[in-house]
Amino acid sequence: MCGVVQGVGFRPFVYRLATEEGLAGLIGNDTDGVTIEIEGPGERVDAFLERLRSETPPLARIDSVVVRELTATGEAGFRIVASEVLGRVSTGIPADAATCPDCLHELLDPADRRYRYPFLNCTNCGPRFTITRRIPYDRPQTSMAKFPMCAACQREYDDPLNRRFHAQPNACWQCGPRVWLAGAVGRDSSPGTDEHSSQVELVAKQSGFVTGHDFSRAASASTSDRALAPDGRALSGAAENKPTLETLEGRTNRERPDAIDETIGLLLAGRIMAIKGIGGFHLAVDATNEAAVQRLRDRKHRYGKPLAVMVRDLEAAREICVLSPKEETLLMTAARPIVLARARAGNGIAAAVAPGIPWLGVYLPYAPLQHLLFAGSRVRALVMTSANLSEEPIAIDNDEARARLGGIADAFLMHDREILQRCDDSVAAVVDGAPQLLRRARGYVPLGVALPFDAPPLLAVGGHLKNVFALARGRHVYQSQHLGDLENVTGLQFFEESLTHLMRTFEIEPQAGVHDLHPGYLSTGWAKEWAAERGLRLIAVQHHHAHVAGCMAEHGLEGPVIGLALDGTGYGADGKIWGGEVLLARLDGFERFAHLDYVPLPGGEAAIKEPWRIALGHLIAAGFDATSAGTLGLVGVTEQEARVLRRMVERGLNAPLTSSLGRLFDAAAAVVLGRRVVDYEAQAAIELEGIAVDEADDEPGYTMELMEGNWALREPARLSAAPLWRELVADLRGGVSHARIAARFHAGVAEGFVRVAVSAREAAGVGKVALSGGCMHNRRLARLLRTKLEANGFEVFQHAHVSPGDGGLSYGQAVVGAAVQSKSAGEPH
Ligand SMILES: [Zn+2]
Ligand SMILES: [Zn+2]
Ligand SMILES: [Zn+2]
Repeated sequence: MCGVVQGVGFRPFVYRLATEEGLAGLIGNDTDGVTIEIEGPGERVDAFLERLRSETPPLARIDSVVVRELTATGEAGFRIVASEVLGRVSTGIPADAATCPDCLHELLDPADRRYRYPFLNCTNCGPRFTITRRIPYDRPQTSMAKFPMCAACQREYDDPLNRRFHAQPNACWQCGPRVWLAGAVGRDSSPGTDEHSSQVELVAKQSGFVTGHDFSRAASASTSDRALAPDGRALSGAAENKPTLETLEGRTNRERPDAIDETIGLLLAGRIMAIKGIGGFHLAVDATNEAAVQRLRDRKHRYGKPLAVMVRDLEAAREICVLSPKEETLLMTAARPIVLARARAGNGIAAAVAPGIPWLGVYLPYAPLQHLLFAGSRVRALVMTSANLSEEPIAIDNDEARARLGGIADAFLMHDREILQRCDDSVAAVVDGAPQLLRRARGYVPLGVALPFDAPPLLAVGGHLKNVFALARGRHVYQSQHLGDLENVTGLQFFEESLTHLMRTFEIEPQAGVHDLHPGYLSTGWAKEWAAERGLRLIAVQHHHAHVAGCMAEHGLEGPVIGLALDGTGYGADGKIWGGEVLLARLDGFERFAHLDYVPLPGGEAAIKEPWRIALGHLIAAGFDATSAGTLGLVGVTEQEARVLRRMVERGLNAPLTSSLGRLFDAAAAVVLGRRVVDYEAQAAIELEGIAVDEADDEPGYTMELMEGNWALREPARLSAAPLWRELVADLRGGVSHARIAARFHAGVAEGFVRVAVSAREAAGVGKVALSGGCMHNRRLARLLRTKLEANGFEVFQHAHVSPGDGGLSYGQAVVGAAVQSKSAGEPH
């Protein structure tokens, strides 16, 4: 039997079923899943098989069951056997899962022995991937190895009928990890600012064991007469001068002054807390406190990018967001992703949390420690954002966190269960009626994504920014967690650490490497070196072909299909910057049927951060007079700036040509919303989508002009935005609302690409369309494209388990790599 059946309570479940049905036999883990031998009357066996499927435990997923007849042994009773009995080791590590309802109940039950224990878990929930060093997934291989179980925990662990049977991270107050509060070091808390010393407050707090809820009063009533240990050691736990972990030993929770209560007090007082979680540290701040959120932004140097908000439960999420049933389901899955949903007006969340957009990234507690921040406290909503600087990897180690976050956090809520795999929170949204992953990490990794055909073992290294790599073997692709940008050394280290871990986890030894066509990607250079050292074959895959092939493979399509790759930036086969592509795609290759007409990108990559440059490039390409005051006014540039840019474009200096749809969105946002610079990737485009959020879908679109190519000569058609710009500017000057202009823009883009698809169908006789690329995160565009394509008789396919953006790229690379490999294997040499 294959699927997710190890470390998720599957064997005790089978034990219980077999016992209830009066069957004899055994169960054990094997390489691919579990093996069950069952012996008894036929109808009982049938009932057993039926219940096996209908009563599967929450975290388990059965992919396939192979049934074989065996000769009866006459043995009585049912046994759970060690893996070795079946002659093979077990492999695979499950994903981390949110606290289950049973554990949550215990956590909040004063009569339970784990009342308020921040690390309780069972086979149905808890950390998995992030605490595991190597396979097999057994306690000695996890960061729980240093916590020997107490007698009570051991009894649970050994009892096949207990919910904690073989729950590797099983622990309690007596034997498990602990939590404590530590002050910050290196914080500049100069008097006279609003930053009056948090350390003073911490010490004040320490002296009185005030329950955090009216902490501010306590803080003002007591001034510092006791210095915090300069190394910022533990503050919680006792009134001794230098409380350390040891002083916590031997106490039960009921007499323990609670570090979590103290954290709550600090949060309510507007302090920034670094809180150690499952896959890394979070920076937390009261999401209803405008000044506190702003302070977090200032210290983190993160100005515009939306921050995620954690609330107590689904009910609380409904209070701050308008949620569809699908969004609620997504919020409640065991992976507990951050869900981008429509913010409710007047929800009390600080405006600085998600400035300029109508959505809020909301999520629910997934670790007991997080539940405790909300349980019985006045905390309503917390900003919980990955503890890192810009795009660096998330901090996981206590000392590393102190060193890296000392300048940001006022204090640290630490614990001593080591995080072994960095893993950010996942981000998801319901786009055009279906869940879509924008960032695939905690809760999803390392679950495999299916492949419709067999792949040899290979490594696909992904892109450059927002890197995710993938290992493929057989019918599965295992994507790494979101690794962030590979631009710095820490990013590359994270890549290598994670690769070593996943290779070990799945025992995959790649026989080939796949990389992006871009010669300048760090991942490309890395792959070349890696393959050369090992003498392995390397396959280069064009960026947008990978996007489209990924979507095809998710739906088992071999092609040809019409692939719309609507994207930001990808290196083209002609060396130009592609991103508005219509491909006739097969898994092992493609032809470029059409593309968005090339426009100059004055300033190259720098233009992405300054959309006014892109806007001017587009207006020049559309025939606007770049010397006229009217045109300059549209983009908000000075005559001087315009002259420099014009020269770049005219001489073709540092003005590469691009067919990117992402850049067309940036340009339109710059003109419509007047946004000159962006703080994060795609900000302008996201704001343009946001402003149109309440406009009807039937708004007629601006005109895109299709300039036919010559398909017989493999000369691609071009889709020009020139008429779109003329109509858009006329509307802007005519006083049409920005919201309506944005809606017409989206509709025009969708209609333009539908027209190209119709032309491709006529030329190639293909009626299936695969939608991919980062622009497919845009809900309005995704919805308009699908409805308009379907209205024209197309069959439309979108990503389901893999991100349409660059987070999904390595899956597509693996698909193309495997297809190319198997094709060349089949060819005569
Ligand atoms: Zn549980
Ligand atoms: Zn215990
Ligand atoms: Zn892309």
